[in-house]
Amino acid sequence: MIKINRGPTPLTIKVYSEKKFKGLKGSSKLTKAEQELEKAIEFFTNPANYSKDLKITTEKFTFIIYKNTELAEELERVFGKKCAYCESDFAHVMPKDVEHFRPKSEIETGTGKLQPGYFWLAGEWTNLLVACADCNRARKHEVPGQPKKIKLGKETQFPLSNETFRLRAQAALTDEDNVRLLLDPCSDEPENHLVFNEDGLTCHGWAHKVSQVKRAKRLSRFLRYNEKRWWKNDARFSMISSLPLNN
Ligand SMILES: [Zn+2]
Repeated sequence: MIKINRGPTPLTIKVYSEKKFKGLKGSSKLTKAEQELEKAIEFFTNPANYSKDLKITTEKFTFIIYKNTELAEELERVFGKKCAYCESDFAHVMPKDVEHFRPKSEIETGTGKLQPGYFWLAGEWTNLLVACADCNRARKHEVPGQPKKIKLGKETQFPLSNETFRLRAQAALTDEDNVRLLLDPCSDEPENHLVFNEDGLTCHGWAHKVSQVKRAKRLSRFLRYNEKRWWKNDARFSMISSLPLNN
C-alpha cells in the first residue's frame, strides 16, 4: 500500500456535477449522486426496513452511483491502475472491484455484524477505491508458514478500537476516524504503519509511537491479504529477501 492523493470530488464526472430535476414533484435540481443519497437515507432509516442494527425487510436497495463507468475509470486513473491495498497491477490481476472503504450495506465490527453499513457514503468519492478481488472479497489463500489455506479479504470488515465512536447515521467522520483500525491509503501514511519482514510479508511497524504500533498491530490482521501478492511478486520478493534480517 502506498499513499495516494485522490484530490477533491472530480466534477468532470457527471453523476457528481450534472444537476437535474428529480421528477415532476421535485422542486430542486439534484445530481444523480445527491438523488441516490436522498433515496438511500429514506430506505435505510425507515424503521420498517431496519431495526436494532438488523435488516428486517426482504426489499433491496440498489446502489448505482459507484458502478458508474466514468467514476470507475477515474478511480482507476487516480490509483494508477493498481489495487489501492496491495498495489497489484490490474493488467495482471482481474477482475477489479470498485470498493467501499467504509462498507455500504453491512459492517463486520470484529465482534459482530451491523446492518446497514455506511449507506450514506455509498456514492461518496472519498469512500471509493479500486481493489483487486483478492483484497476485496473473501477468498482462501496460501500463506507462507501456514499449514492450511486461510480465508482473507476485506469484505465488509471495518474494525474500530472503540465501538462507542461507531457512526450509525450521516455525521462528521472525525471522531470515528481517530479509532479506525484499517489503513486508508488516501489519508494515512502506510509506511508509518507497515513494514515487510524477511519473508516479504506485511507486518506492523515497531519503531513508532505505542498507540500507532497498537493500531498497526491490529491492522496487520486485515492487511494479511497483501501477503500473497508480495510473496508472488518475484521482483519485490527477491529485493526484500536480500535485505538483512534485522533491518
Ligand atoms: Zn489487492
